[in-house]
Amino acid sequence: MPDRSPDQLADHAVGRSPAEVLALDREHVWHPYDPMPGRTAPLLVDSAAGVRLRLAEPAFGQRELIDGMASWWSAVHGYRHPVLDAAAKDQLGRMSHVMFGGLTHRPAVALAARLAELAPGDLRHVFLADSGSVAVEVALKMCLQYWRSVGRPAKRRLLTWRGGYHGDTWHAMSVCDPEGGMHQLWAGTLPEQVFAEAPPTGFDAPLDPGYAARLRALVAAHADELAAVVVEPVVQGAGGMAFHSPAYLRVLREACDEHGVLLVADEIATGFGRTGRLFATEHAGIVPDVLCLGKALTGGYLTLAATLCTPRVAEGISRGEVPVLAHGPTFMGNPLATAVALASVELLLAGDWAAEVARIERGLRAGLAPARALPGVREVRVLGAIGVIQLDHPVDLPAATEAAVRRGVWLRPFRDLIYTMPPYVTDDVDLARICAGALAAAEAG
Ligand code: PMP
Repeated sequence: MPDRSPDQLADHAVGRSPAEVLALDREHVWHPYDPMPGRTAPLLVDSAAGVRLRLAEPAFGQRELIDGMASWWSAVHGYRHPVLDAAAKDQLGRMSHVMFGGLTHRPAVALAARLAELAPGDLRHVFLADSGSVAVEVALKMCLQYWRSVGRPAKRRLLTWRGGYHGDTWHAMSVCDPEGGMHQLWAGTLPEQVFAEAPPTGFDAPLDPGYAARLRALVAAHADELAAVVVEPVVQGAGGMAFHSPAYLRVLREACDEHGVLLVADEIATGFGRTGRLFATEHAGIVPDVLCLGKALTGGYLTLAATLCTPRVAEGISRGEVPVLAHGPTFMGNPLATAVALASVELLLAGDWAAEVARIERGLRAGLAPARALPGVREVRVLGAIGVIQLDHPVDLPAATEAAVRRGVWLRPFRDLIYTMPPYVTDDVDLARICAGALAAAEAG
């Protein structure tokens, strides 16, 4: 056996040097929201453990980066958590996959039952989808099919507020913010939905009665054609990292009840404690008719999402002319993903996640506050384990990324936003470094 480091062995295993891998990446691999080839070279990650990403070769003098992004909200327990690794290995020893049509298995059943138990209200029926976008598609299909089944087929449009993000598949895209979601590019092709103004910002801001009245009026005016209202509760994530008062969710719940419209809460980003409550709808004390979960569901290990609905929705569909929900992806309920998800949810609940998120909230408030004094910074806001520095100009992505990486921190800004939603296991020292990285990014970008 030649004398090689584990990293060299890893490179040897795929037979490529980091430079060769990156050249192949540039040649063949499409990255998110990028042209082909990409605008900037990605960093090559060899492994990750705890809250650290280990690079194949140093970038700006750093071989290890503290992950300020939790892999886009998902890695709440950090990387290579022994409990999650063990769950994955154990399940691998049984089966990594089996089809879900006509067959079932313990991890999926246990996960579905657990999610139904944890979710607010009576969201007891669970459809296991393979990604967040698909979970949203399933939610929308459920709502449209519900109305079709109960004899109201004209109710097939959706209402949302501006500034949202619900995924990149077709109907999910139709309820994303019209500008950020590139609706102009797809005008004439994308279903045209009903848009309210973006909710007034500020988690603690008092309810704006004028906005609430306009929201109610819009739901009322379109009630005959609306299948559902679809929103991200409390935090609009990829649409702009904006926070709003939970009071608007109560307004929507009331308006939906009054006018016979279903309410879908997309908690794919906010679910599992990120905003300080297990589910963000709990801030408002409302129960949606349909709830979408994803991202942190598997602790960031594997792709899995879930769409939960009430008996009313399920029974409506199941008594319809076509009494089935016509959806069934190949990897539905994947055993490996559901086993890890179950372990991740139990791990979260076994610990004091609320105290950890509150600790991170305090750390982010203290650590990001100095950004308010920086030129070019419009606003600094924090909610739960989410910290945002909003600039008054578009971020210079390469410059901001480099500034953070030089301080040993991984951040991925977008638009005018430098933001972090770290793993809940990030300790105070690393959290302070993430904040320093975000400040440096704000200064550079
Ligand atoms: N809804 C929300 C609120 C999201 O933040 C995302 C992902 N950023 C999605 C849906 C789509 O999830 P996925 O990327 O897993 O398809």
